[in-house]
Amino acid sequence: MTLIGLQYPIFGPEISCPHCRQLIPALTLTDTYLCPRHGPFEADPKSGELVHLQSGRHWRLWQDEWYRQHTHPDGIRFEIHEALDRLYTQGYRATRVVIAKRYQDLISSYLERGTQWRTGEGQKLRLYGLPVEFSPDAETAPCWDVINFNLEKEPGAPTRPPYFRMFD
Ligand SMILES: [Zn+2]
Repeated sequence: MTLIGLQYPIFGPEISCPHCRQLIPALTLTDTYLCPRHGPFEADPKSGELVHLQSGRHWRLWQDEWYRQHTHPDGIRFEIHEALDRLYTQGYRATRVVIAKRYQDLISSYLERGTQWRTGEGQKLRLYGLPVEFSPDAETAPCWDVINFNLEKEPGAPTRPPYFRMFD
């Protein structure tokens, strides 16, 4: 007889709900965590992901933060736009966005292309007017297997940056 009562899903006896951040418990003898507001989430020991059963959304964990895993380009574009919005309200201006390499195929055809006229170099990719680069491989920098993008920033400009106008 084993002490199965002591076994928890891969993320432990409780997690913070990816939606509301409330601490939610694992259900005994299952891979499920139950949020009273958002319903069941299932931990998948094979993929290391947390799946919201009602929406089918997937998350991975990095340094106690959940990162939604996108399967559609609109999902990641929307998340980047929200982050730009937050930066702006904190008084910063984004100068560049680095997107995880695992999304390169998904998002590439949705990026704007402009020729670098000054240097005559190849085409530069842009999103919301910002230069885009892709991250290093996740083998060299494991965080890029989980996080979605990183915004480089500088203290804010006095005028609204151009990416806001696209959504006015
Ligand atoms: Zn919740």
